[in-house]
Amino acid sequence: QTAAEQHEFGAEVGRLLDLVVHSLYSEREIFLRELVANAADATDRRRFEALTRAELALPEDAAVRITPDQAAHTLTITDDGIGMSRDELIANLGTIARSGTRAFGQNLADAKPEDRPSLIGQFGVGFYAAFMVADRVEVVSRRAGDDQAWAWTSDGRGTYEIRPATRELPGTDIVLHIKSDAEEFLEPHRLEAIIRKWADHITLPVKLQRDGEYVAANEATALWRKPKSEVTEEQYEDFYRHVAHAFDKPWAVLHWRAEGTLEYAVLLFIPGMKPFMPVEDARESKIRLHVRRMFITDDANLLPPWLRFVQGVVDTEDLPLNVSREMLQTTPVLVRIRKAVTNRVLTELKNRSSDIDSYSVFWNNFGAILKEGLWEDAEHRTEIAGLSRFHSSTAEGLTGLADYVGRMKPEQEAIYYLAGDKLEALRDSAQLEGFRDRGIEVLLLTDPVDAFWPERLANFDGKPLRSITQGAADLAALPRTDGEPDPAPDVAELLASLKTALGDAVSDVRSTDRLARSPVILAASEAGPDLQMQRLMKRSGQ
Ligand code: ADP
Ligand code: MG
Repeated sequence: QTAAEQHEFGAEVGRLLDLVVHSLYSEREIFLRELVANAADATDRRRFEALTRAELALPEDAAVRITPDQAAHTLTITDDGIGMSRDELIANLGTIARSGTRAFGQNLADAKPEDRPSLIGQFGVGFYAAFMVADRVEVVSRRAGDDQAWAWTSDGRGTYEIRPATRELPGTDIVLHIKSDAEEFLEPHRLEAIIRKWADHITLPVKLQRDGEYVAANEATALWRKPKSEVTEEQYEDFYRHVAHAFDKPWAVLHWRAEGTLEYAVLLFIPGMKPFMPVEDARESKIRLHVRRMFITDDANLLPPWLRFVQGVVDTEDLPLNVSREMLQTTPVLVRIRKAVTNRVLTELKNRSSDIDSYSVFWNNFGAILKEGLWEDAEHRTEIAGLSRFHSSTAEGLTGLADYVGRMKPEQEAIYYLAGDKLEALRDSAQLEGFRDRGIEVLLLTDPVDAFWPERLANFDGKPLRSITQGAADLAALPRTDGEPDPAPDVAELLASLKTALGDAVSDVRSTDRLARSPVILAASEAGPDLQMQRLMKRSGQ
């Protein structure tokens, strides 16, 4: 036998392992969910590769097998999946192959203990959860298509070993040397309960060894294929947590089946909380595409980027299993499914927007993302505008554009808005003075995307949108609510001398009826970008 090689973890990973192991004690059973999920993913990948390489075909009885051995104090999770080569073991288990490593470690350290488990799922470091219950983990894996198997071993404290091993067939065994205080995870009863809780929706059979025999421990059905009436709320929630790597309750569950020229089943979720990793990092929707139950890809962009917070599965009868990547982007089947699914999500949002409290929860989580559609999606722009909510200078809580229009003064022609970074600063802004005196409501916009879309939307319900930091004053036509006459001091001379003094620094100096208490204010010209847009451009170095 060749001598074992010694490899070192990246420094951050060592610290990370420590945090994972010592922060998750309240939910230790999670390790099994993570390992079974990995086994199921690996089996999906092998099934997919076998479509083009018949020699990789899965055995008929492909399953995840869980074998507790109380005498040896080991728990073994075995799969018939794709397996890992030596290089893959190093890449996948020896480094955390996600860009968020540093952020992860920091955030985990900062997070409240009850929030920590959700961080694990979201950052895809599930494998390391094994060290919560094991003081040594041994992975024996043989890549499908390779002859050589490899063993990876670590005590989770900073180093791991790799050496050649033997394994008769492709697949992976994860052998956990169970800690003395975790013996409960060797009891079949306990294991069965955990599998029921976490792995029922996994479509691969999970089998547990009891009295020398492997018995089915999960239902192994595709939840989204079942009729709604046969799915409990709890099953939806478990499945949501699985697909979304989340631990909250979904804000919305959308489950339907389309029958007719196209047949597909859809199960989507709108999360109840903002995911911990900002969704802005990747703009693509990660809805999973299945063809006749088989997972194909989560890169099919089944929803537009501005609905990327939606999680879930679309499963269709109408694509070949060996659908290619190029085909995924252009096939008319998916074009039609995309359209239908997008519209269905928008309808759900519309239906739920009348419940103000509940809709505010959604809006505070994902409104900033939805508004990107106002900028980039001409087809759905009007609909998204109707679903959008804003703070305003006069309304309590959030308001929609339709409600704003309903409150407009008879003489008022435009929907006014003020964009900036902070709500408090906007509320105190001198730009609002003249509007306040006339009782005119101004929308206060604080998301970065707000600097961009108003120009694209241009108007709502026939009323133009106007930034109050831009252009000449046009409040003269609107009566003051305090009944005071507008002072009209003769400032012509003052303006002329200010213009001379400021020279090229400004394009014009004008009198305005927008101000009540402040003597001067900076405004953008009608032709160019408004003030917030100019600030953003400056910040990005333009
Ligand atoms: P994630 O599953 O979110 O990618 P994990 O820490 O759970 O993160 O696993 C890291 C990687 O290790 C996986 O992406 C996969 O490539 C590999 N891996 C883990 N378990 C298995 C397995 N049983 N078979 C094949 N590959 C696996
Ligand atoms: Mg995983």
